[in-house]
Amino acid sequence: MTAPTLSTALPGADVHITTNPYTEPFWEAARQDRLVAPKCGDCGTFRLPPTPFCPNCQSKDVDWTELSGAAEVFSFSVVHGYPGIPDITLVAAVLDLPDAPGARLIGNIVDVDPATVAIGDRVQVFFSPIADGWKLPLFRPAT
Ligand SMILES: [Zn+2]
Repeated sequence: MTAPTLSTALPGADVHITTNPYTEPFWEAARQDRLVAPKCGDCGTFRLPPTPFCPNCQSKDVDWTELSGAAEVFSFSVVHGYPGIPDITLVAAVLDLPDAPGARLIGNIVDVDPATVAIGDRVQVFFSPIADGWKLPLFRPAT
């Protein structure tokens, strides 16, 4: 029996991000191996991706809240092959963040047999180096 091909992520050197004043706190925290989400300083609503205004009350006040890094698969797709990397297998997921109700993060789940991934699976964040000294949040099955 052949071992399943485990999911991976794009080579970090090929992953480039841009930041702006609203997203930079997220990326600065990731660089320190911390997952954070913006929480409205007035009404407490979490939001991701970061936005200038709270979608619930329009406040500009933000509390960047550190999360545990626990997440649950809300939805996902399995990607076989990528331009220039035909043998790569990616699991791209939309993840619920139990510590930030209402916020969802899109991320790759790595080190998993794609055939076994299911909605509701619990995963845990870790941070992987990408271009220009940044780090990207990635996820692995929670143990
Ligand atoms: Zn608000």
